[in-house]
Amino acid sequence: MSENHPNGFLKYRRSPIGYRDPAIRTADYLPVYDADWAPQRMREQGGRCMDCGVPTCTAGCPIGNLIPDWNDLVHRGRWREALERLQATNNFPEFTGYTCPAPCEPACVLATNDEAVTIKSLERAIVDMGWRQGWIVPKPPIARSGKAVAVVGSGPAGLACAQQLNRAGHRVTVFERDDVIGGLMAYGIPDFKFAKTQLARRVDLLGREGIEFRTGCEVGGDVPLASLRAGFDAVCLAIGAQTPRDFDVPGRRLAGVHEAMDYLRCENRRQAGRPVAQAIDAGGRDVIVLGGGDTGADCVATAHRQHAASVTQVAIDAPRPLARADDNPWPWWPKTQQSSYALDEGGQAEFNLHCAAFIDGDADGRVDEVRFERVRWQHDATGRRSGKTVIDDDVRLPAGLVLIATGFTGPRLDRLACAELVADAGGRLPSDDAMMTSLPGVFVAGDARRGASLVVWAIGEGRDCARAIDRYLSGDSALPASLRSAGRPLGG
Ligand SMILES: Cc1cc2nc3c(=O)[nH]c(=O)nc-3n(C[C@H](O)[C@H](O)[C@H](O)COP(=O)(O)OP(=O)(O)OC[C@H]3O[C@@H](n4cnc5c(N)ncnc54)[C@H](O)[C@@H]3O)c2cc1C
Ligand code: SF4
Repeated sequence: MSENHPNGFLKYRRSPIGYRDPAIRTADYLPVYDADWAPQRMREQGGRCMDCGVPTCTAGCPIGNLIPDWNDLVHRGRWREALERLQATNNFPEFTGYTCPAPCEPACVLATNDEAVTIKSLERAIVDMGWRQGWIVPKPPIARSGKAVAVVGSGPAGLACAQQLNRAGHRVTVFERDDVIGGLMAYGIPDFKFAKTQLARRVDLLGREGIEFRTGCEVGGDVPLASLRAGFDAVCLAIGAQTPRDFDVPGRRLAGVHEAMDYLRCENRRQAGRPVAQAIDAGGRDVIVLGGGDTGADCVATAHRQHAASVTQVAIDAPRPLARADDNPWPWWPKTQQSSYALDEGGQAEFNLHCAAFIDGDADGRVDEVRFERVRWQHDATGRRSGKTVIDDDVRLPAGLVLIATGFTGPRLDRLACAELVADAGGRLPSDDAMMTSLPGVFVAGDARRGASLVVWAIGEGRDCARAIDRYLSGDSALPASLRSAGRPLGG
């Protein structure tokens, strides 16, 4: 692709699509990001791309998005072609353009001594433009293969797999145990991070392409897996990895101590006007969020919007270094301490605190305090925690609501009631090189195979699994392989 912006990075400073003012955005559940962006500004940002001979940004993106190509097309104002290039590798660019942590950006060559190209903002701008202009339309297959595939789970992995298989002409039915399609995009990721209108629009388009959706249908419960195997030519299990890590300390069963996912799901349902079995509300309470990761950050941000009296996010580990360590060079994902959008909105961060007990001081059955040990960790050669020194065994924080966001251990295989499907030690459902489980014709994709991960990885897994299933059904496949299957991207 010819160049017309050799010095764009010298001319323009990095200017990503920003966030709304925290004081304003915490008063509502609208997207935290600026609603709009100026096309001219995005053209300048695209012009900062150096179109490197070896595009390390593409290697940093788990689906191998053709980033330099669409940067250049945006710079030239050829938005529609940019959209086509983006859609060549990404089924749902609005999922990633709004939620991806963008491992591509620290892998940008400019990031070695300057500010990276605003790749995620450009991706969002292209897909926003595509929807606004009416360029994103259903593309049903021209011919049907006569084969039928059941996809179990409707998160980004299941939806990407379904769309790819449908494009290859196979009849696809998606089975979802929840009452809405979307997986964690629907119930998990808060509305202010990803507006559910965007999800509904995409699901509607998939339906118009010919994909059938069955909600409220649990495979293993409402429908036996065996009947799917008998009724379909192949099955893809894209069932996520939503089993919460067990957290068994004294007082765990007190009222006011909840799993993060129960809390976030409850708020998603409330925002959608759906009934909520057990309302969990942070209003007026001192909130402790256990877990320093992204799920914890989403709890912090939700608590702000519910008018918590105070919010503290507690990490068990020490804060990460501010700059890359010697063994973590460019272009790998930087293992550095990052601020989160949620703590930018308010609240405290605590580190090196190990939760020891939930305390009900006034014996009314509800948590009042959390007791921690302040610790210093020892690590083994692989970086895993191998021992601890307790510096203070009685650190107490007031708590009217505790949210446990300490990670996930894998898929809920018990629900499938199938003795052959057993998770490995890491909680992942094993598969062969063709993504097939030990059950012939039953494939696995997304968090269920990889462990709890990212939306972009789930999309890549879904695409690769569709190709594997297409090969299984047809002997070959014209569906594209993602970068993941060609080699190992740079992390994230
Ligand atoms: C709170 C939270 C916030 C996150 N934020 C981000 C973010 O900002 N950016 C990012 O990149 N990633 C984020 N993630 C991670 C991301 O959401 C996941 O990696 C991704 O959704 C995984 O996709 P998946 O399709 O594999 O599984 P899921 O999205 O978990 O979907 C699995 C689906 O399978 C269904 N299912 C399970 N078992 C059955 C069954 N037996 N029968 C029928 N249906 C079944 C489930 O109901 C679910 O709908 C976040 C995760 C959480 C928990
Ligand atoms: S999907 Fe994520 S990693 Fe890939 S280009 Fe978009 S923001 Fe970057």
